[in-house]
Amino acid sequence: MKNWETLSRLPRRKIENIQNKKLRFFIKHLLPFHPFLRDHLKKHAIKPSDIQNTGDLQKIPLISKQDILPTENIPDKPRQFILQPDTAAIKKHYPKSRLIKYMITGNLHESLEREFKPIHIHFTTGRSSAQIPFLYSARDLATLAQTGSRIFQTAGLAKEDIVVNAFPFAPHLAFWQVQKATEAVGIRCLHTGGGKILGTEKILNALQKMEATILISLPGYGYHLVKEAKRQGRNFPKLRHIIFGGERVSPGLREKIKGMFPDVTILSTFASTEAKTAWVQCHEESGYHLYPDLEFVELVDEEGQRVKEGQPGEIVYTALDWRGSTVMRYRTGDMCAGLTYEPCTHCGRTTPRLHYEIERKSEHKELRLSKVKGELVNLNAFYPLLNGMKEIDEWQVEIRKKDNDVFELDELHVNVACVHGEECTACDVMVEEYVARELAVRPVVNMHDRQLLINALGMESELKEKRIVDRRV
Ligand SMILES: [Zn+2]
Repeated sequence: MKNWETLSRLPRRKIENIQNKKLRFFIKHLLPFHPFLRDHLKKHAIKPSDIQNTGDLQKIPLISKQDILPTENIPDKPRQFILQPDTAAIKKHYPKSRLIKYMITGNLHESLEREFKPIHIHFTTGRSSAQIPFLYSARDLATLAQTGSRIFQTAGLAKEDIVVNAFPFAPHLAFWQVQKATEAVGIRCLHTGGGKILGTEKILNALQKMEATILISLPGYGYHLVKEAKRQGRNFPKLRHIIFGGERVSPGLREKIKGMFPDVTILSTFASTEAKTAWVQCHEESGYHLYPDLEFVELVDEEGQRVKEGQPGEIVYTALDWRGSTVMRYRTGDMCAGLTYEPCTHCGRTTPRLHYEIERKSEHKELRLSKVKGELVNLNAFYPLLNGMKEIDEWQVEIRKKDNDVFELDELHVNVACVHGEECTACDVMVEEYVARELAVRPVVNMHDRQLLINALGMESELKEKRIVDRRV
């Protein structure tokens, strides 16, 4: 794998050459080991020789989570996305030169096992849909350590930095990406396990005692941590970066944190379990720096057609140099404001970048709020909306049945702790009007005590806070 400083500053033509070469290698030598993609191409009458460069990828129909989810007929569907070479397939499709190299440099069997045997698992973390396993070989774990070190280099971290990792201990990419990164770079790090494991008090103590320079966290929990620190009058003079991951950071949340700790830089990462790694900003206003030797990322419009460079669209991901579970032309469900190959105006790197404005595709749920008809409500819209209101300290959305009666109408509750305290008589009206205006549904707003709401969110007890809760089922 190329040195990141060299790779990330190559001219565009060279970057495209690397991508085309890796794509041809995948199609010729690895695709035969991939049960789903092998059939997918056959089903659509695409010959491997039809795919010579990343432009040709457009011939391959897009796939989505629906293709990976287990079905009644095929309960082990995710297994079809794992590269599974057997001896005969290796002999037939794997490059002879590599086999010879493996034989010369060590044990052939061990080398192939390192490359292909899945030994590590992450699960997708979607709030509503079923969890899908994504598997890593030993080679993939080494790649994950490499990308971890690329993230730290891009974000400007040095060996002298001291990291507090507040991601929960879980079989999720976020935690493991940080663990691999700190180990690979050789940075001192306390992996706290988040609110559920070490708890907020001890994490704040650690930030102070260790004189941590970097805090890494989920946005919702990170916001909770810095608010709590501020409330207790704590200072972190050495803290210079907060790096968020695992979820999108809304501009309102970013602003609220900046208001409390103006000298801290807030960088976010973007990742998806299917892409097996995370990408980071080099600056608060930069895009996410991609790894062109590992993946090809494109944006598509609603019809699934690739959009022109710089135009907004849905992020579609193709793995170029991963083993274990891999996807090709995978619709992530994330909408991005644009993708550029122009050199980064902040760090000068020439690797492609996704614009920092990324939102989940609308997730509409039908609610029966009146006897007349159901209303479609975009639940994802609550995040930027409520995080952006300065008066709101914490919030939670609940969907309930009226009087807990399954035959009754649905009710949309917004539970709010505002900065003025529980007795405030103005914020509930304001939130109600604001939500009604922006989302075209009128919620029931309940003012809460902040500690009770923090408990209800599960800040100290859940892996991820329970921001939107559907209690109808
Ligand atoms: Zn940059």
